[in-house]
Amino acid sequence: MQIIKTREELRAAVRALRADGRRIGFVPTMGYLHVGHMTLVERSQAENGATVVSIFVNPLQFGKNEDLDKYPRDLARDSAMLEAAGVDILFAPDVREMYPSPMLTVVDVPTIGSQLEGEVRPGHFAGVATVVTKLFNLVQPDAAYFGEKDYQQVQIIRRMVEDLAQPVRVVAVATVREPDGLACSSRNVYLTEDERKAAVIVPRALDLAERLVREGLKDPVALEAELTAFLKREPLAEPDVVAVRHATTLQRVTDLSDEAVVVALFVRFGTTRLLDNRVIAPVSRAEDTH
Ligand code: AMP
Repeated sequence: MQIIKTREELRAAVRALRADGRRIGFVPTMGYLHVGHMTLVERSQAENGATVVSIFVNPLQFGKNEDLDKYPRDLARDSAMLEAAGVDILFAPDVREMYPSPMLTVVDVPTIGSQLEGEVRPGHFAGVATVVTKLFNLVQPDAAYFGEKDYQQVQIIRRMVEDLAQPVRVVAVATVREPDGLACSSRNVYLTEDERKAAVIVPRALDLAERLVREGLKDPVALEAELTAFLKREPLAEPDVVAVRHATTLQRVTDLSDEAVVVALFVRFGTTRLLDNRVIAPVSRAEDTH
């Protein structure tokens, strides 16, 4: 595996892969890798002749009082994992290499990016869309792999790629979970032992949402209220976002029996925010498939 720190070396390495006739799959990450990230890597390897992984903790997508400085980092461990998995290139630039001068250009998908997580993290998704565009331009992948755990991010990237005709196929990969159902996340290491135990309430709330819709609940506002009350039964959980939205536009819906919705949860445990979601098909359509 080549470990590359500069944009120039990356371009040369990508040119060499292309000259070799290889299709390139790309997995952008912020590092501190876990089995969720490695599942994206495996998928890329299965579908392409070469896989490039980036590790870059992107300051543009962190708000002033967020965890940019304390975000967990372990490049030695991450490179060993990627090397063992047979990745071709690890691109791990520092901030000056990615942003040699202040960024004056912004890529944003405001109608999708200002909702949900964007409401509590203003500017976050513009930072994501901008860095992903820049990484796409550097790596020039055929396909790029993203986790459904960050559901809103996937919708934004898909829309950005479509609107700007970026020549890359976006692949969304199902959320990988711990045995008790908690979504794997680099931020899970922040949780105390008690918070970690309590965090299982998040996937349980998604199970409840699915059950209530299946039992005939049609009102999204009532569903949000049920889920908020359920989450609040856990004293360590502070729900920041409990939202039931259209599965692709993320706009509000009026009737759960009409179209697929996403239940998006953004729940704080102490200072740690955990994110999870589930797409729920309308009951009539789910029954059609039986
Ligand atoms: P991050 O390093 O947190 O920015 O994540 C990098 C990529 O891995 C993103 O596309 C995430 O959605 C994806 N990812 C993170 N956690 C998981 C998970 N538990 N299952 C699947 N993909 C994940």
